[in-house]
Amino acid sequence: MKTRRRPYSAQRPADLGGGVWSVPVPIPGNPLGYTLVYAVDSPAGPVLVDAGWNHRDAWAALRDGLAALGIDVRDVRGVVVTHHHPDHAGLAGRVREESDGWIAMHEADATLVRLIRGMAGGSARDFQADMMRRAGAGSEADAVSVADRPDPPALPDLELQDGDLIDLPGRRLRTVWTPGHTPGHVCLYLEDTGRLFTGDHVLPGITPHIGIYPYDRNDVDPLGDFLASLDRVAELVDVEALPAHEWTFPDVAARASEIRAHHEEKLTVLRELLAGLRTAPPTIWDVAERMTWNRPWADLGPMQRGMAAGEAAAHLRTLEVRGLAGRVSGAPGDPVRFTTLSH
Ligand SMILES: [Zn+2]
Repeated sequence: MKTRRRPYSAQRPADLGGGVWSVPVPIPGNPLGYTLVYAVDSPAGPVLVDAGWNHRDAWAALRDGLAALGIDVRDVRGVVVTHHHPDHAGLAGRVREESDGWIAMHEADATLVRLIRGMAGGSARDFQADMMRRAGAGSEADAVSVADRPDPPALPDLELQDGDLIDLPGRRLRTVWTPGHTPGHVCLYLEDTGRLFTGDHVLPGITPHIGIYPYDRNDVDPLGDFLASLDRVAELVDVEALPAHEWTFPDVAARASEIRAHHEEKLTVLRELLAGLRTAPPTIWDVAERMTWNRPWADLGPMQRGMAAGEAAAHLRTLEVRGLAGRVSGAPGDPVRFTTLSH
């Protein structure tokens, strides 16, 4: 049975049984609607999984939603952040202020948080424009502007590694490192109830953004990491998924396999695209323009095009790692171009 996606206004705080509760926290102005913040009970106080977007209304929804379930936010023991994105980590600092609890996240995302906190507005714009130019965006790169960015997330008190047990007396909540959507994304496996908090890694109706930044990087493979992380989760038999968006669902392994197949299909289409352009190897931007998105390329705004290019670049990079695509060397300063390599 599938619960359809419903607007934030239809969501309610819920007791999911087994000492687990969920509170929908709105993401103002975002079509995703809300983040599901979970609370896991223990004799030493509840621990939250994610915290929601840093906004007055979101804070009120979190505090009042917890209160409706009998939890005083001041009693929270700590917040485990599945990844550093603002709809997950945004309110963690506020919860820490109120409760004096800890914030925990994977060490790879903690490194990114330190980087984000050190990056001023001007340097973010230069980074974006330079990355777009190297990807073949042409004059679009000159017009780039960086939208108002949300406040950077709070620095964590605890840095997690794969396999770590969360400080939650009397229960077993284990860190499962699932890099891909971000380098330090984690799922949290509540071993005593057979449930997995999946963050953005496995969602029931949509797939998370997998991008590579800068686009022409050739020292990492986020999509390859993501696919391997899906395989890890697909090993969990009979485990219920508690995702950070949309709705909970019974079989995390089945959905993980479905998402893997979706990306393999995309990789096959991309290979065919490159084969068709063998005589004129495309830039990353050319590839992004030709891939299928949820709207026509002409209707995508600058921010969405940037994300589409990131996604195209991640898929190209995975083909390259598999030995199925390669970079064409051009004159110094020219954007990078890709071509097929056959085995
Ligand atoms: Zn995210």
